[in-house]
Amino acid sequence: MNILVVNAGSSSLKYQLIDMTSESLLAKGLCERIGIEGSNIEQKANGRVYQKTLPLKNHTEAFGALVGALTDPEYGALKDLSLIGAVGHRVVHGAEAFTGSVVIDGAVMKALRDNIPLAPLHNPANIMGIEACRSVMPGVPMVAVFDTAFHQTMPRRAYLYGLPYEYYEKYRIRRYGFHGTSHRYVASRAAALLGKPIERLKLISCHMGNGSSFAAVDGGRSVDTTMGLTPLEGLIMGTRSGDLDPAVIEMLAQTEGISLKDAIGVLNKKSGLLGLSGGLSSDWRDIRAGLQAGDDAAARAAEVFAYRAKKYIGAYIAAMNGCDAILFTAGIGENDGCAREMILKDMDYLGIELDPELNKARGEALISASGSRVKVFVVPTNEELAIARDTLALTGTARARFNTPAIERSFA
Ligand code: ADP
Repeated sequence: MNILVVNAGSSSLKYQLIDMTSESLLAKGLCERIGIEGSNIEQKANGRVYQKTLPLKNHTEAFGALVGALTDPEYGALKDLSLIGAVGHRVVHGAEAFTGSVVIDGAVMKALRDNIPLAPLHNPANIMGIEACRSVMPGVPMVAVFDTAFHQTMPRRAYLYGLPYEYYEKYRIRRYGFHGTSHRYVASRAAALLGKPIERLKLISCHMGNGSSFAAVDGGRSVDTTMGLTPLEGLIMGTRSGDLDPAVIEMLAQTEGISLKDAIGVLNKKSGLLGLSGGLSSDWRDIRAGLQAGDDAAARAAEVFAYRAKKYIGAYIAAMNGCDAILFTAGIGENDGCAREMILKDMDYLGIELDPELNKARGEALISASGSRVKVFVVPTNEELAIARDTLALTGTARARFNTPAIERSFA
């Protein structure tokens, strides 16, 4: 069965077509600038690149372009649309309503709309993507896979903030966490690499990309994670500040004469590596190059980034009372030995020791020294494959349809 995996943003649509008999990638594409001048589509399939600049007024038109690209006789990957068995949609926020992936029906759509206040930027785009897909491919079963779902196993001691409890009761203000599909994929892959049942493992999954989060995974369940109500909390990221004293926001607003919304904008868009490096770059490769060239602004950003990450690893070892393996994934985690070394340096007290040679690895690899009590792995993430697997599991035998009761739900 072929599964289309879709990640809809407010002005973009990323997709992959995966053949699930061999779990191989048939096509990969991106529609950009939807609703903006200069919209375009680019797709790679069978080693050929399909590129077109065309007006895409909305997500429905983008889906039309996607279907055109996938079924293009010269550049496509499919004879016709009937060869797509199901669609898996990445959805950012499932709040407390979703503890696993679900077949999309009317009740699911209502719950997604109810969650908009928790993810005002992301969920409306995800909803537009689902609705557009339904209008272009009516009758094809669709599954929603949530970034937050994996973290719904966190105990309340980890997800509650130290706020008046009524705010949790009234508004569900709490830690939700994100990147759940990646953490779940990487943790299960690590269990296979270690040759042990995941139920017996304590793992720390370190997803470091433009956005970064760590998760403590005990027995296959997320028990804590660094992102919070929104992806702003936790680690130093490309442009996000991560943790700070909330009083900073009021002070910034007052002293700079900006609104609270704009102050939060500074934390989201102008902080992190970009802000700490004095505007040098949000991209780790530039920061590392600056660090290696002796630039102090780059070194400052790299130090804060690595120190925050180190502290969370220590915290999660304490939270789980142990750790069998640390897993590095995503753009920085998979590719940058320098970042991994800075984070894990001087952690031998906790039984963590990198092997400098093995740490040069690219791709899936064990990179800890032979005597290291805690194993360290590079595990490339594959969120699209994880979404496709869930989609297959939920629709492979089911004849699910939009607007009919969900016939199968996973609360794994
Ligand atoms: P996201 O999916 O969150 O947008 P990615 O997982 O693609 O982000 O990660 C982007 C980050 O990974 C950037 O900071 C970039 O510098 C870093 N990165 C990508 N490739 C490499 C590489 N080969 N070496 C070091 N860092 C890399």
